[in-house]
Amino acid sequence: MHVLVLGGTTEARRLAESLAAEAPEVRVTTSLAGRVAAPRLPPGEVRVGGFGGPAGLAEWVREHRVDLLVDATHPFAATMSRNAILAAAEAHVPLLALRRPGWVAQDGDRWHSVASLAEAAEVLPALGERVFLTTGRMGLAAFAEAALDSLSFLVRSVDAPEPPCPRQMHVVLDRGPFDLGGEREILRLHRIDVLVTKDSGGDATAPKLTAAREAGIPVVVVRRPPVPEGVPVAATSDEAVEWVVRKLYAEGSDGVDGSGASG
Ligand code: NAP
Repeated sequence: MHVLVLGGTTEARRLAESLAAEAPEVRVTTSLAGRVAAPRLPPGEVRVGGFGGPAGLAEWVREHRVDLLVDATHPFAATMSRNAILAAAEAHVPLLALRRPGWVAQDGDRWHSVASLAEAAEVLPALGERVFLTTGRMGLAAFAEAALDSLSFLVRSVDAPEPPCPRQMHVVLDRGPFDLGGEREILRLHRIDVLVTKDSGGDATAPKLTAAREAGIPVVVVRRPPVPEGVPVAATSDEAVEWVVRKLYAEGSDGVDGSGASG
């Protein structure tokens, strides 16, 4: 029995770890896009790099006799999630989307919800000059516009960003989890007056939101792309393990219908 996990997230790694511990007879392959130079590797097999679109993914699934597909990519990896749906349909394998819930604003938060990085860039000049940008190095082009040249950006990313980048930029190379003390210190030390984040959800990077709330700093929150319809969704790696075990053992890998993570 072979499960392919489309990874690149903490939850994907946790899923591979749980399956290795709880169902060691199941072959688990985690697929990484290859964006991070030295990724944290899960147990089981790991393959790196794109498949060449939905057809390439379907081909890989067939060739490697994959029984179940779990899309545990980041909530903002919308292309890969779409590819997973098309490939699962083409190769006739059940698909589960593992999506941690988004963050919810609390009393005292000063959130500005936007639809995209481009919209985040548009609202920034009205909110402050010293920006803490935590949206990842891949989307920096949106903040490299001449209209933002007077803003100063503190960019935090796992690997060094590549151009185009904001004109005034200081880079901190780091990866989560981040703690509240450290996040408070960054806001204070760099005299940050606005934070930009994707609505990634999860605990690992949430302390920056608490630190911003405490400091009364506005936060520009980029909304998630919608979860594609018709795909069962698990909110945690534990729920995903349950789905995998149920599909492989209770229902049998032939009789599955992909109708709901809890169904
Ligand atoms: P994306 O825009 O949805 O995907 C672009 C292309 O990258 C896909 O068409 C696919 O290439 C390849 N790809 C993406 N995820 C892959 C995977 N797990 N295994 C193999 N190929 C993959 O993806 P993205 O937003 O650039 O994210 C890339 C990776 O970084 C994902 O694994 C994601 O979980 C992780 N990540 C993303 C973010 C974010 O904010 N977007 C944040 C943290 C981690 P082919 O079409 O050639 O198969």
